[in-house]
Amino acid sequence: MLSAFAPLLCAFVAACTAPGSAPQGFPPPPQGYPSPPGGSPVTTRGITPEQLLRSEIRVISRLIPKGTYGRRLHRPMSPRYITIHSTQNYSGDAFDHARALSNGKLRARKRPGGNRIGFLTWHFTVQDNCAVQHLPTREQGEHADFDGPGNNYSVGIEMCEHRGNDRSATIERTAKLTAFLMYEHGIPLRNVVPHYHWPRRGASPPNKNCPHFLLDNGRPGRKWAWFLSRVRAHYSRIKAGPCPRI
Ligand SMILES: [Zn+2]
Repeated sequence: MLSAFAPLLCAFVAACTAPGSAPQGFPPPPQGYPSPPGGSPVTTRGITPEQLLRSEIRVISRLIPKGTYGRRLHRPMSPRYITIHSTQNYSGDAFDHARALSNGKLRARKRPGGNRIGFLTWHFTVQDNCAVQHLPTREQGEHADFDGPGNNYSVGIEMCEHRGNDRSATIERTAKLTAFLMYEHGIPLRNVVPHYHWPRRGASPPNKNCPHFLLDNGRPGRKWAWFLSRVRAHYSRIKAGPCPRI
């Protein structure tokens, strides 16, 4: 399936131009879950983090084997941000990406100030019906800004764009996963950012149009604000309870 990754990946395609794709079928704005005072999770109703993870997000583990390829080095991380991408790969689904990562197919040129490990890696790939995990969230990925804070301190989430994948469902599942990770790691909503947020030194343009379908004219705007409102809505549903470490 290597051919499926030819256009790949938002993390390293230099000119990440949106292919004129208007966003389609966005779900309605959030309703029914007002944010609690102070932004802390509600305690009397809602869903526990574990329930959200198991019954709504459906995370499937396909970790890159420890000690191989993009995980040859153990690079611990305390996540402070969550970075949202889209694959710009119109043929590969989340499992195709998992296989490519685990088989060392997603190579990148290792260079000072650029890719540090010779491979691309990130934490989750989300599609309409599940979220596939590639890295533990307490390990660094290589998906955003080379040796910058986007790689050093953020969990990377890629949204699938393969044909037949429901984009609205993918965005909604991504919002839920983001809310769960905010809760697990104590990350504030202001630290949920698009790949665009992290300038890539030496790249042109430095700020990538990614995820292109949640940006307006290549920059965060109305669509990004709407996505954050979906994250906030799901975060507000979380009540105290068991929270798996993923
Ligand atoms: Zn990206």
